[in-house]
Amino acid sequence: MDIVKCPVCGELLKQYQAFYRCQKNHSFDIAKEGYTNLLLNQSSKIHGDAKDMLLAREYVQTKGYYQTVAKTIVLMMKCLSKEQIVDIGCGIGYYTAFVQEAFHTNVIGIDISKDALKIAAKKNASVAYYVASNKSLPLMDQSVDLIMNIFSPVYITEVKRVLNTHGYIIVVSANKDHLIELKEIIYEDIHDKDELRNDIEDDAFKLVNETSVKESMIFDKKSLDNLFLMTPHYWTSSIKGKEKLAEIDELLLSIDVSVKLYQLGK
Ligand SMILES: [Zn+2]
Repeated sequence: MDIVKCPVCGELLKQYQAFYRCQKNHSFDIAKEGYTNLLLNQSSKIHGDAKDMLLAREYVQTKGYYQTVAKTIVLMMKCLSKEQIVDIGCGIGYYTAFVQEAFHTNVIGIDISKDALKIAAKKNASVAYYVASNKSLPLMDQSVDLIMNIFSPVYITEVKRVLNTHGYIIVVSANKDHLIELKEIIYEDIHDKDELRNDIEDDAFKLVNETSVKESMIFDKKSLDNLFLMTPHYWTSSIKGKEKLAEIDELLLSIDVSVKLYQLGK
């Protein structure tokens, strides 16, 4: 389905075999891995997550630690209209692919990290992946039935613009106790180390469903190291915290994640 817009002029992009082109002849090649770069400002070389972080995320997600979260998302989506789904801030496409495989509908993944989409596109060729910013989605107005926003910042103005009149957004974010045992090891004081919260406080949306995924899982040494590397904690913890963690062989960790479904329109 054609809903992708040209980042230069805003016209609809049509897909040809190996590229996209708008009426004004702006064209964008589809990379050999299968994603398309629609980001105009390429001046900075570092966009989004660093490569090590992406590989760490792939390791942890492949091990299935976040499978219950993915299954909960699918369950919540089951009865919704979802001809066109978009996963914004999709990263390496773990949840994107999971949802596509569950429903076999039109699924788009958007992320600012080209490296993330290289991994994502190779894993599931049925999803269309675009490099773009959440702040400026390359999508036509009112073209999307359902948006997924999984552990990623929400820019509500863009969400409102691209959603259909009664479209949905599913938002997944970490609760306070998510990975608490890890935080207790790496921080002296964990109180001001709250996770990113993504509650939507916009009058245009109503909360229609919510649940939490709570479970405990044993992370072995390698999984623990990878988990640490994929979270923002890697950047915010002290050297002392990192040393303490290095001495631990395995850890029972709490997964505690909030899944919320909002609908546009009162
Ligand atoms: Zn154009």
